[in-house]
Amino acid sequence: TARNRNLSGLMAEVLNREIICLLQTLGEVAQETGCHAYAVGGFVRDLLLHIKNLDLDVVIEGDALAYAKKLGKKLGGKVRTHEKFGTAVVKLPDGFKIDIATARLEYYEYPAAMPTVELSSIKLDLYRRDFTINAMAIHLNPDTFGTLVDFFNCQNDLKDRQIRILHNLSFVEDPTRIFRAIRFEQRMGFKIGRHTEKLIKNAVKMELFDRFFGHRFFNELISILSEENPIPAIHRMADLGLLRFLHPTLRIEPKLATILEETRQALAWHRLLYLDEPCRQWLVYLLALMSSLPVREVVVFCERFEVPLRHRQFLGREKLAVTRIAAIMKRAMPETPSGMYHLLKDLSPEGLLHLMGLLKKKGCKKAISLYVTDWRQLKPETDGNDLAEMGYRTGPLYGTILRCLLDARLDGLVHDRASETAFIKEHFSLPDQ
Ligand code: ATP
Repeated sequence: TARNRNLSGLMAEVLNREIICLLQTLGEVAQETGCHAYAVGGFVRDLLLHIKNLDLDVVIEGDALAYAKKLGKKLGGKVRTHEKFGTAVVKLPDGFKIDIATARLEYYEYPAAMPTVELSSIKLDLYRRDFTINAMAIHLNPDTFGTLVDFFNCQNDLKDRQIRILHNLSFVEDPTRIFRAIRFEQRMGFKIGRHTEKLIKNAVKMELFDRFFGHRFFNELISILSEENPIPAIHRMADLGLLRFLHPTLRIEPKLATILEETRQALAWHRLLYLDEPCRQWLVYLLALMSSLPVREVVVFCERFEVPLRHRQFLGREKLAVTRIAAIMKRAMPETPSGMYHLLKDLSPEGLLHLMGLLKKKGCKKAISLYVTDWRQLKPETDGNDLAEMGYRTGPLYGTILRCLLDARLDGLVHDRASETAFIKEHFSLPDQ
């Protein structure tokens, strides 16, 4: 049986009133529908660690789809159901999302005349989860609201800061859990349990991964590379012999270690300056990890992990462009800002940060950072209307003049409208009157 402990007090301490009210409503709707509702997974784990986690996963013992519809109606939310998986998402008017799933069911056939009984399905549901720290639930129905459901003594592992699987075949069943173990270990400063680590090493030795590629692995890799600082997790993957599953020749050599660290610094710099410019950190780290591989090996990687086409094209294009530019900059940096501008102007934010991670020379980094902070925003003050007023005939010449003007501006040859006008008159003759 589960260890019972009521978490209402803890909830009041960690969560705000709206969330607690919402949890209560979730329980009331369960009562009205004649089923049981539980908050599960990361939400419970984080609550016990006094961390507010707004990813709410709910498991229903009963019909989750009927429950979701009723909940949607009561809260005025939008309901999306996936009949095949018995899951639903309810999106509330304020944007808050609740994931709802049906607990797994298992029937036990008793021998002879005994009836078939339904095993407490929340127990089975929790048993099928990745790690003990993620295998607790909180009962939400009104009469037991806030009761912690912990069948496998998971609280102890949380207290001991241990990542442990629930049964020995866990990694055979789903090897992506190995990536998850490393992610949780590094993020929370926990330790993968001794037995669990042994099972990971066995799985690696058995080359379990050779059969398990595809997008689920890729998604776990994205999650790792999206952690605030994924470098310790990358080193842990290397220690456990996992990098070669990404690519057989991938190793953390001093050169790659430096590139990863420089990449981290470039990303931190960018985050500080451009909070609102979207930059997909995981792509920058993936480019860094793959920096020693030729493009065709990146293509092989993308195929094995079923990387979506848009990412594949992006990775290929940015890798080629950055490799080319890095070679030019190592050989001979452009001498003028305009030369630098034209070299960098087609790179994405991710490509620029990848380039910064690759180049060691201070001068190179400085030039890229100036491009990001100043040069790429620069525009001449003169525009097409001004050129018409000055008497130039409309046509392709306008493009040429404005491009030259931008270069002149970048290189400091002009700095305001008056000097731009003088520059144009000096270099482009007006048509005969
Ligand atoms: P995060 O804070 O990173 O979102 P999380 O624990 O919420 O952590 P999710 O990936 O959102 O992680 O998964 C939600 C829950 O689903 C987990 O807590 C875990 O119980 C379960 N789960 C996810 N992936 C697996 C898996 N591969 N095998 C078993 N259970 C899993």
